[in-house]
Amino acid sequence: MFLKRFVLGPIETNCYLVADETIRDAVIIDPDIRTRQEKEEVTGEIGRQKLSLKRVINTHHHSDHIGGNRMLKETYGAGILIHELDAPVAREPWKWWQKTMRADPMHPCPGCGHQENYLNVFEEEGKAVLGCKACGFSIEILSSPPADRLLCHGDVINVGRMEFRVIHTPGHTPGGMCLYVKEEKAIFTGDTLLNLSVGRTDTIDGSHEDILKSARSLMELPDETIVYPGHGDQTTIGREKRENPYVR
Ligand SMILES: [Zn+2]
Ligand SMILES: [Zn+2]
Ligand SMILES: [Zn+2]
Repeated sequence: MFLKRFVLGPIETNCYLVADETIRDAVIIDPDIRTRQEKEEVTGEIGRQKLSLKRVINTHHHSDHIGGNRMLKETYGAGILIHELDAPVAREPWKWWQKTMRADPMHPCPGCGHQENYLNVFEEEGKAVLGCKACGFSIEILSSPPADRLLCHGDVINVGRMEFRVIHTPGHTPGGMCLYVKEEKAIFTGDTLLNLSVGRTDTIDGSHEDILKSARSLMELPDETIVYPGHGDQTTIGREKRENPYVR
């Protein structure tokens, strides 16, 4: 298995380029590609390795995991794959943000702590801008093109001779999922299981109870399985079993 990790976007999201070493069939998991430099970093590697990028898989709907979907679809014709429960949010992420702001209009700005958030939606351009009037902080929310394949628990995605199995792990989002590649002893866990932690659940569609159940279910995998999370460094199921306070 060829694997290259990129750390991309404003909140340092792990984007994984994975390929069959012989057949050169490739998949990208969780691209948050926004700047020209980020685009060159990823497309340059695909070119150097002579890979054929056929699919993009999103572990969940959050903006920092889907920002590069449109670019990769337009550049390579890659199909977009996402869990059926998260697909509608990825398509129109501003609706999720509108609900979030209605539910908690006093949410303080991460930059300055003031409560002067705004959300400008540019639907035809497939994006929205979330910002703060007080300090000028702003972030682009990029929508995904429609999914080419909706995933659910147990589905298998073939990448060359490799099989990526979908394990539905709700909690961080309702359609959050992990991708298990048994033959390679690898699992891509998105923001469900992080290095000695789990993803946040203080969002409108998060559930702490569900994420604990989901993360604990992953502990049934073999100890030597390498965990590639959505943020931070890789770990193993064995180490998480011993040291992660959320699953012990
Ligand atoms: Zn997330
Ligand atoms: Zn994330
Ligand atoms: Zn601010």
